[in-house]
Amino acid sequence: MTAQILDGRAVSATILDRVQQEVAEFVAAHGRVPVLAAVLVGDDPASHTYVRMKANRSAKVGMRSRRIELGADTTTDALVSRIRELSEDPAVDGILLQHPVPEHIDERAAFEAIDAAKDVDGVTRTSFAMMAFDEGGFHSATPGGIMALLDAYEVPLAGKHAVVVGRSPILGKPVGMLLLARDATVTYCHSRTTGLADYVAEADVLVAAVGRPELIKGEWIKPGAVVVDAGYADNTGDVEYAAAARRASFITPVPGGVGPMTIATLLAQTIRAARDHEAGRPDGE
Ligand code: NAP
Repeated sequence: MTAQILDGRAVSATILDRVQQEVAEFVAAHGRVPVLAAVLVGDDPASHTYVRMKANRSAKVGMRSRRIELGADTTTDALVSRIRELSEDPAVDGILLQHPVPEHIDERAAFEAIDAAKDVDGVTRTSFAMMAFDEGGFHSATPGGIMALLDAYEVPLAGKHAVVVGRSPILGKPVGMLLLARDATVTYCHSRTTGLADYVAEADVLVAAVGRPELIKGEWIKPGAVVVDAGYADNTGDVEYAAAARRASFITPVPGGVGPMTIATLLAQTIRAARDHEAGRPDGE
């Protein structure tokens, strides 16, 4: 068996075409362009690349991105107050704080400074709770993108055993919640899990969200499983791709799988935030 590719580039292009159309309708209706503010702290080259990619995509769909670059020595207080300013700025529709921030910063405090109505990357406690209660808030961008990719290929989830490797607040934990909301039976694995291979071997749907190249061996994959690899470190995913592709029914490539879906979700949520923003404005503001 050779797995079918879950082609994040192709699916994200379809989503971005729709977003572009929605942006054009928004501009025609409101006479302004939606604005996404991207906050970048420090000089991590990968983070700079991600922010640049997001800005390029924003421009392609007709949105404006505002880039706020802060030095590596920025304090938590300074970052929080800068993000609060953006939260209160009526010209900003969505806010993205590029993760990870330098270690001395309290990342949670910085995330919580984002107004929930502008939390288009789905990182605040409010968004997390709405996701958990299935109440339609903004999804964490990568988990939201993973679900959209699975849906594009009509991968059945109800009653399936989904194993999520990783439990970070922006990726592993929320993707498990979204799978649970779709009636999968969810198991989380993490750095303290013993016998990872045995859990992986039981997965009908595997989501790898660790960041350790080829931690998950191809021979562990259950024949016919659906493999989603969100990991990205040293240009490599968490799953041993070639060997896994011989056993899986569907698999994401790295790159070209989850990454483009994350950006598409971010921008789809930004146009939604902009529309909600206009709907909530008092007349004449
Ligand atoms: P993170 O915060 O570092 O979390 C990593 C998770 O992996 C933790 O829950 C950790 O467990 C678990 N883990 C570490 N070693 C493990 C092991 N040996 N066995 C099982 N689990 C282990 O990372 P993250 O932000 O969630 O990101 C994870 C990966 O996804 C990274 O490669 C990142 O680059 C990638 N990512 C991709 C996108 C995209 O758009 N494609 C977006 C975001 C992230 P503990 O909780 O026990 O420490």
